[in-house]
Amino acid sequence: MTIGCALTFDFDAMSVWVGSYKARNPSMVSRGEFCAVAIPRILDLLAKYKIPGTFCVPGHTALAYPDLIKRIHAEGHEIAHHGWVHENPADFDEAGERRNMELGLEALQKAAGVRPKGYRSPSWDFSANTIKILLDYGFSYDSSLMGGDFIPYYARMGDKYDDKTPYVFGVNVDLVELPITWLLDDFPHFEFVDKDTYGLSAASKVEEIWKDEFDYARLHAPGGLFNLTMHPQVIGRGYRMMMLERLINHYRSFPDVKFTTLIDYVESWRAKNPLAAWRDSGAIQAQPKFQRQMA
Ligand SMILES: [Zn+2]
Repeated sequence: MTIGCALTFDFDAMSVWVGSYKARNPSMVSRGEFCAVAIPRILDLLAKYKIPGTFCVPGHTALAYPDLIKRIHAEGHEIAHHGWVHENPADFDEAGERRNMELGLEALQKAAGVRPKGYRSPSWDFSANTIKILLDYGFSYDSSLMGGDFIPYYARMGDKYDDKTPYVFGVNVDLVELPITWLLDDFPHFEFVDKDTYGLSAASKVEEIWKDEFDYARLHAPGGLFNLTMHPQVIGRGYRMMMLERLINHYRSFPDVKFTTLIDYVESWRAKNPLAAWRDSGAIQAQPKFQRQMA
């Protein structure tokens, strides 16, 4: 059995500063422009090792940098939906969240003629409506939740919880979840945002974490996916690019490792784990079955 290795890049550009951080200071917003320097570096590195990547792109970025989106697409990488302007879906009612979904889809279509099958929410935030909306728009997978590490699962809809009553699990629905973790995200390790994020780590620390997490996945989660999240404006700095290339050489040194886009991995995983069979198998995250048995 192989272990999938996905190098994913959240191409936020200015959207994260304008949308998530509500920045209006030109200096802070200009951090996002570094993406235009970083993207060619990343694409050249992926081409050097013939690795397919997944780029999660907000509509705001697609309209700002259509030529870079076109190049990413032309070089065979996957493009996934990453919101409109890096907004938090929970800040909108259902109609507003659907509007943001459509603005993102329209921008990716306009920039590169792409209709993504994958979604990653801005800053990994969800509203109570997000999964229903993803199903309505026909997405095959999401990669924003943290209910596992290397083994995918089918997302649930209708969980109920408060701080007074027992947790009630909803039902698994036909949306594959590729879990993520802040551990495997370059932003908290490396970025600096005053009064918010104090990263600026040496590469050696992050390299150790990203190597050992990968080695554990390869040894203990055969058939699983090592899902690494990076941001061009973060990973694109010189010493971090050198770290990434060393890690790529570590990952590719094993014959049972297959570099993959998220959608390619999902399509293969779905074929082996259709929802009904997976639900009945008692796989992890199939809590509704467990609850029925206990009832
Ligand atoms: Zn992002």
